[in-house]
Amino acid sequence: MNSDCLFCRIVEGSIPVAIVEETEGSVAFRDINPQAPTHVLLIPRRHVESLNEVDDAQMMGDLVRLAQVVAAREGLGDGWRLVTNVGKDGGQTVYHLHLHLLGGRRMGWPPG
Ligand code: AMP
Ligand code: ZN
Repeated sequence: MNSDCLFCRIVEGSIPVAIVEETEGSVAFRDINPQAPTHVLLIPRRHVESLNEVDDAQMMGDLVRLAQVVAAREGLGDGWRLVTNVGKDGGQTVYHLHLHLLGGRRMGWPPG
């Protein structure tokens, strides 16, 4: 727990969000500024800054599994996208690892 970290505070419950699903190690909640009809953030409860600092394969596996469960629940049978921004050039603004689950419209490629 890092009290300066927005997403740690969301995990601890001191900032209200629309929770979609929770597991022992992770939380899924709706992005406050959605970029698609479904835009859910998947985060580990443990504070990890970004994909660069990940050292726990099970934690990542749990997040990916959670993405499958949420995508199915959101009715994204036609497809979806999972994105994680790393660092300045990656466009990361919150330094607590999060996967963006996006769906409900056709995604463009390449991304901006
Ligand atoms: P990134 O730019 O990849 O670090 O993503 C951070 C995401 O967190 C952005 O899509 C924001 O819209 C989202 N965000 C920031 N604050 C909140 C909040 N209080 N509740 C939900 N999503 C948030
Ligand atoms: Zn954190």
